[in-house]
Amino acid sequence: RFAELSRLSDLPAETADGSRIRLLGNIEFPAEVDACRERGADGIGLFRTEFFYLADDGPPGELEQAEAYAAVIRALPGKPVTIRTLDLGSDKSEPGRALHVEPNPALGLRSLRRSLRDPGPFRLQLRAILRAAAITGGDVRVMFPLVTTLDEFRQARATLRDVAAELLAEGTPARADLPVGAMIEVPAAAIMSDLLAKEVDFFSIGTNDLTQYILAADRTNETVADLYTSADPAVLRLIDTVARAAEAAGIEVTVCGSIAGEPLYTMLLLGMGIQHLSTPPHQLPEVKRVIRAVQMDEARALAREALRRGSAAEVLDLLRQAFRRVL
Ligand code: PEP
Ligand code: MG
Repeated sequence: RFAELSRLSDLPAETADGSRIRLLGNIEFPAEVDACRERGADGIGLFRTEFFYLADDGPPGELEQAEAYAAVIRALPGKPVTIRTLDLGSDKSEPGRALHVEPNPALGLRSLRRSLRDPGPFRLQLRAILRAAAITGGDVRVMFPLVTTLDEFRQARATLRDVAAELLAEGTPARADLPVGAMIEVPAAAIMSDLLAKEVDFFSIGTNDLTQYILAADRTNETVADLYTSADPAVLRLIDTVARAAEAAGIEVTVCGSIAGEPLYTMLLLGMGIQHLSTPPHQLPEVKRVIRAVQMDEARALAREALRRGSAAEVLDLLRQAFRRVL
């Protein structure tokens, strides 16, 4: 079994009937890029960057950050690396350095909201990313987390453009042409995804937060863990909405929440039209195994059926049956 999984790293993430899926890695630390490469990842779909800020000795400066990004980009020559800007607050707070205590941190000043309100660290990070992209010449993409409104996305992208202009005016090598995407992890963004899709270069669906906000169930609260499941039909319907909006606008959509790494969900996601999955490195072989066993017609039929179910339990039954049929 282990030998089979390791052999998979050299095979493409392609369905049994020949659809090429892009199977990417999620990383939280630069060193994890090696585990992605060893397992044959098609790139990095989500580079979480909070690790810089969770260190006890404070965040590093611009050059040190740029070096960290460049190391990841160089480790996967020619492959896409999607860097997510800071997603601090709520479930990702710095030890002892919270800005202030909020009664509902998941609904508070977290993530992109915080970056826009306190632009110093945000601009420094964007400078580091644009510099790393220039030094390496890699396929680097920038992604903003927790985008809630169109205005927020526009403001973030304007900051990125401003930072690029600033670097170029200084004579610092920087790339001004990087694709810019929005994470879809707030219901408002999913509901508005048809309009957002016209302004962004790509979507990445963060099902961990999206599930929490759709079901009003804290992702870290065990007492509501029974409600918190991405198999809930309400979650599936909104993922489907986003996938259709992306398809209509001709932009890429990735799923990078934890269901992208759960083999039980692979066929369903492919059936909903998701062609890019980003998962923690250890999940890559299992997900690829499922991809290679799936026929797209069967996946689409499964998705249609799942979208008609009325409860998470019914959806999960359906997924388990399909999984047993295919593998
Ligand atoms: C998500 O919310 O699904 C996601 C990928 O981001 P994180 O888990 O880092 O919040
Ligand atoms: Mg998230």
